[in-house]
Amino acid sequence: MSTKTLKYDTTNARSLLREVSERSSQNLSACYQCRRCAAGCPVGEETGVTPDRLIRMVLLGDREEALNNLLVWQCVACYTCGTRCPNNIQTARITETLKQMSKEAHLDPLKPRVADFHSSFMKAAEHVGRFNEIEGMGIYETKTAIKELKKGDLQAVIDEMMGQAKLGIKMMKKKRMHFKVDKVKNVAEVKALYRKAKQGKGA
Ligand code: SF4
Ligand code: SF4
Repeated sequence: MSTKTLKYDTTNARSLLREVSERSSQNLSACYQCRRCAAGCPVGEETGVTPDRLIRMVLLGDREEALNNLLVWQCVACYTCGTRCPNNIQTARITETLKQMSKEAHLDPLKPRVADFHSSFMKAAEHVGRFNEIEGMGIYETKTAIKELKKGDLQAVIDEMMGQAKLGIKMMKKKRMHFKVDKVKNVAEVKALYRKAKQGKGA
């Protein structure tokens, strides 16, 4: 568990809190650090950051820590924290917001592959309004391959393809991989939401 001392930034604390609260629609100020969320988070121990601590980072205005920690990249959006929170704070929405803010600030992600998967997911979901495994994984694998080829590591590309093919076959056998593209009824509405979210954010 991280024991690093967080910095209180008197100048920026208020603006960081306002931005994260508005973008995540969560009332972070209601957090009284009871740590009920921490006890249920499946990745808190591994990442060294529990949901309560993440909220504390924002409340103190420690932008650097809030945008650069493993929980932001490894939160599995299980919503356990929100279910346990007496103040109904959904930290999964806060991790998603901070992930987006970290990307907008062009910070090097602590987990580059998670960042690539996140971008691929968002791109694929924009087209038809929901995630399609074939398109999403296609975008993700292309991104990964380009990066490895730039490093001159062809073997890594082959290993990745073989690994993903094996995984794909396993998923198909369990009927967890779908070839049919399911569109939402109103794709234009989803696209409009994306446009609104991107406005002025450079994401
Ligand atoms: S359970 Fe809710 S109030 Fe308690 S520490 Fe976690 S976020 Fe804060
Ligand atoms: S949603 Fe994220 S932060 Fe909350 S309990 Fe699950 S993994 Fe932890």
